[in-house]
Amino acid sequence: MTAIITTDTAATYVAREGATVQLVGVVKDFAGHRALGGVDLTLRPGEFVALLGPSGCGKTTVLRTLAGLEQVTAGRILIDGEDVATVPVNRRDLGMVFQAYSLFPHLTVLQNVEFGLRMRRVDAGARRRRAAEALEMVGLAHLGARYAHQLSGGQQQRVALARALVTRPRVLLLDEPLSALDAKVRVQLRDEIRRIQTELGITTLFVTHDQEEALAVADRVAVMNAGAIEQIGTPEELYTTPITPFVAGFVGLSNRVPGELREGVVHVRGTELPLLGASQPDGPVMALIRPENIAFADEGIPATVVTTSFLGSVRRTQLRLDDDTLWSVQHDVADRPETGAAVHLRLRQHAVSASPLP
Ligand code: ATP
Repeated sequence: MTAIITTDTAATYVAREGATVQLVGVVKDFAGHRALGGVDLTLRPGEFVALLGPSGCGKTTVLRTLAGLEQVTAGRILIDGEDVATVPVNRRDLGMVFQAYSLFPHLTVLQNVEFGLRMRRVDAGARRRRAAEALEMVGLAHLGARYAHQLSGGQQQRVALARALVTRPRVLLLDEPLSALDAKVRVQLRDEIRRIQTELGITTLFVTHDQEEALAVADRVAVMNAGAIEQIGTPEELYTTPITPFVAGFVGLSNRVPGELREGVVHVRGTELPLLGASQPDGPVMALIRPENIAFADEGIPATVVTTSFLGSVRRTQLRLDDDTLWSVQHDVADRPETGAAVHLRLRQHAVSASPLP
């Protein structure tokens, strides 16, 4: 199937169907240091997958091995079923956008976008037309004659995106493309990338350490920790059923509450909550409880209101418990707890992640 994007100028951008991308047991060592310890990841045609994890967990290394910028130590990388081990970077048919603005400073915006086509010896007329279409797609058709230093950060990244897409690659690789931008531009460009990616149906791997960004744009999110993928799932799955405490702690906000695990049930302050994920030996645990799973009640766990913040559609209140720990509770904006007020809390019934306490 072919996606055709019709632009205001009646030009057309014809995309090819997105590829299937598979990483099978990918290991990468750097001089004795194991950066990737056997990564398995499959991207379906046209899927937008975010690779999420803390600094140093190996996200960029996954992307670079996929691009062919690093050789794998072991394992295989397949694009549409073809092992690309011996295929050089420029033959892998990938578009890439990096964190740092990487436009050629001595070329105009239009020439930057044309660059990949020039390398492929596309004739001048077709080159011009396709570069103009790609610029149109990112909303910058009017800035083709400018140079990089005459553009804002967000505009530069739009040009980088147009440059990556102009060759109609099978796969798009994005390495923290928004991290140098201010918050508002970040959200705008994030949504724009998602719109263009959906329209083109291009298989996309998006590296980020920002969980909100990953959850907002991706079809599925792969959470990485120490060179391995801990869990991959839809944003909803990761948020509601994190299978490890690391995922629960990294995706969304959680309160860390001590409890006791007995036969698959976590006992926390008089409430019994089923354990999420793999079974664990009985004993003391730290349970991770989302702010929306704690509610105000007439009786139950005593607490004192510390601060309350209005977040638009909800309110988040910080409370101090009798053991001096702080809990964050998310609730209806209509409830306006007074600072210093004595209140009671209860835990809603839900399954929780918990990690053993020493
Ligand atoms: P960040 O979010 O900070 O960019 P990341 O998750 O992308 O981090 P990587 O850049 O993939 O992490 O790095 C993974 C590990 O491999 C780190 O411990 C890093 O120091 C190491 N590493 C990466 N590139 C090299 C290299 N060329 N030589 C040696 N070690 C490297």
